[in-house]
Amino acid sequence: MKYCSECGHTVSQKIPKGDDRLRYVCDNCGAIHYQNPRIIVGTLPVYGDQVLLCRRAIEPRKGFWTLPAGFMENGETTVEGAVRESWEEARARLSNEKLYRLFDLSYIDQVYMFYLADLVDGEFSAGPESLDVKLFNEADIPWDEIAFGVVVDTLKEFFEDRKKGLFPVRISNTERTRLKR
Ligand code: ZN
Repeated sequence: MKYCSECGHTVSQKIPKGDDRLRYVCDNCGAIHYQNPRIIVGTLPVYGDQVLLCRRAIEPRKGFWTLPAGFMENGETTVEGAVRESWEEARARLSNEKLYRLFDLSYIDQVYMFYLADLVDGEFSAGPESLDVKLFNEADIPWDEIAFGVVVDTLKEFFEDRKKGLFPVRISNTERTRLKR
C-alpha cells in the first residue's frame, strides 16, 4: 500500500498507539488502514456418485478444474456466498448445504470454507467464469488438472469419507500450513 484511501497522501508503516503490529498509517491525516484475511467460500456439489467441477475461464489457473468458490461479499453469510458462487460459476442449484472443510492459509492471508451440498435435479451449465462444468466419477477426476491444492485435498478427503458415510468438518492443520510457507 502506498497511498491513503482517505486523502491520497503517502502512508508509512507504524505501530499505532495501543496496537501491537505494523499498520499502514497516513502521513497526512493519520488514518490507519487495517488489512485482514480474505474469506473464500465454495461448495462441493454432489449428484449421486458424482461431484461437480468447473473449468476456469479466468486467471489464475485458467483451463484447470476447480470447485465453485469465490470471495465472500459483504452482507452475506458464508453459506449464502458459497451458494451464490455455485450459481454464478456453474448455474447449480443446491440443497442440504453442510460445512465440510476449512483451510486456514495464514501464509497467504486467506481462509477457505467449502460446504458439502446436493445438486438439485442434476442440472447445471457454465457461468461466465467457467469454460465448462461437468459431473465426475471418482475414477475420472483429472487430478493433474486441478487448479488448487485446497481443491485436491477436499476432493481426496471427500472420497475417503464417502467410504464410511461420515463427513466430519475438517480444519487444516496449522503446522502443515506453516511448513508450506
Ligand atoms: Zn490520509
